[in-house]
Amino acid sequence: MAVMKFTKKSYTELVKIVGRDRVSIEKEDLACYAFDAKEKADLPSAVVMPESAGEVAQILKLANEQEFYVIPRGAGTGLTGGAAPVMGGLVMAMAKFNRILEIDTDNLIAVVEPGVITGNFHREVEKVGLFYPPDPASSDFSTLGGNLAECAGGPRAVKYGVTRDYVLGLEAVLPTGEIIKTGVRTAKGVAGYDLTRLLVGSEGTLGVFTKATLKLLPLPEGQATMSAVFSSIDHAAESVSAIIRNNIIPRTIEFLDNASIRCAASCRDIGVPLDADAMLIIDVDGKGTVAETEIARIVEILQDNHVTDIRTAKTREEADELWAARKLISPGLHRFGPNKLNEDIVVPRSKIPDMIRRVQEISQKINIPIICFGHAGDGNIHVNIMYDKKDKQLIEKTEKAIEEIFEFTIHLGGTITGEHGVGTTKSSYLSMEIGAMELGLMKKIKHLFDPKGILNPGKIFV
Ligand SMILES: Cc1cc2nc3c(=O)[nH]c(=O)nc-3n(C[C@H](O)[C@H](O)[C@H](O)COP(=O)(O)OP(=O)(O)OC[C@H]3O[C@@H](n4cnc5c(N)ncnc54)[C@H](O)[C@@H]3O)c2cc1C
Repeated sequence: MAVMKFTKKSYTELVKIVGRDRVSIEKEDLACYAFDAKEKADLPSAVVMPESAGEVAQILKLANEQEFYVIPRGAGTGLTGGAAPVMGGLVMAMAKFNRILEIDTDNLIAVVEPGVITGNFHREVEKVGLFYPPDPASSDFSTLGGNLAECAGGPRAVKYGVTRDYVLGLEAVLPTGEIIKTGVRTAKGVAGYDLTRLLVGSEGTLGVFTKATLKLLPLPEGQATMSAVFSSIDHAAESVSAIIRNNIIPRTIEFLDNASIRCAASCRDIGVPLDADAMLIIDVDGKGTVAETEIARIVEILQDNHVTDIRTAKTREEADELWAARKLISPGLHRFGPNKLNEDIVVPRSKIPDMIRRVQEISQKINIPIICFGHAGDGNIHVNIMYDKKDKQLIEKTEKAIEEIFEFTIHLGGTITGEHGVGTTKSSYLSMEIGAMELGLMKKIKHLFDPKGILNPGKIFV
């Protein structure tokens, strides 16, 4: 790929489009955009904050003419380097697109700008009795645009699906500067190819979102929480299958392996024995008394499946205490190693025990702590390899471990990423899962959208 440069002339032209206040080439400003939550990259050459689709279009046209890279950015919470400027260029920060334009309670849709913080959107729709289910754990600081670009998931995906299931239509600016509108405002719509679905999850490589029409649901009336402890990961996995076989789809089913339980307990007492092999935290929701009825039925199912301890929450505070075990894992992780590689593999639900056992074997073989937790309901396991990046030998070992984990994931019929995307960190592993023909097709699509390769270079493909 030819090296592209943002020049003094590019800066002058950019100032003509957005004015001097919304573009910067000052090092102290650029330092704030040289990374995401995963990757520390090089300083970009400049950062710009457009306010309208028209400005985004003019900037991308300029980038094509003058041949410089543009990297779209939401809140920078991505975990695969998606918003990190790995080849220099102009960071396009979408923070000014922060308005919820419409909440339509008759048609259960909302129209939003991409810079809206996801948690703020949750709270606004809930005020009028509506519900936007996608709930990445980062929702208090990530943006809807970043969620769309990564097709973010979260604990509620087991019952409600992921971001792509809630995007009806988009306004986006193509890398060549044209503004396009995709999708519908209606519950149905099959006119032509589904460009909306192609753009969602495209990791900022096919277009810059400037508006989105999102589907909403009625807010569930009631919610209930419980936790369950097991002496074997097989019993926990079998319990998850049994719950779903009994026609109950919980709002969330989170699981912790033994290493995660010890990790959370290293922060404070969580009331779970340290030799427990697995723990589930389950939320259910529904109309009227549905939540209570489902929890009672789940307790019966777990009792038939070798559970060793069950707790049900009677108040919101008690529910928060049950969730504390899950929430303490992240703060506890760094006690097991200064650096972390966090993979988000997915395997068929029933294969979780096989996967965890294989990860435990790999952890013992290379003598590095690997801590697994995640969304048991949809088979999404967060595999955290804790290591010290100053130790070269450890880096080699962790790279080998990741490769083995991905190989086994694919062998079990899974995928190397359920919600964090490919970005830079998984690009060299993509061909383990996607065939040469399909990868070739994806690259042709990228070329069709972005013939000069100016938008978010170095992402997804090696
Ligand atoms: C503590 C923590 C917990 C997390 N938990 C979860 C979780 O539970 N589930 C989950 O899925 N993820 C999770 N993540 C990852 C991350 O929060 C998500 O990927 C999120 O969607 C990124 O949003 P962002 O606004 O920070 O985007 P950024 O990191 O800024 O960007 C992510 C990608 O989106 C592109 N992009 C941003 N805005 C636009 C736009 N307007 N148009 C086109 N492309 C755009 C960027 O170029 C980049 O490729 C977590 C991260 C952290 C740090």
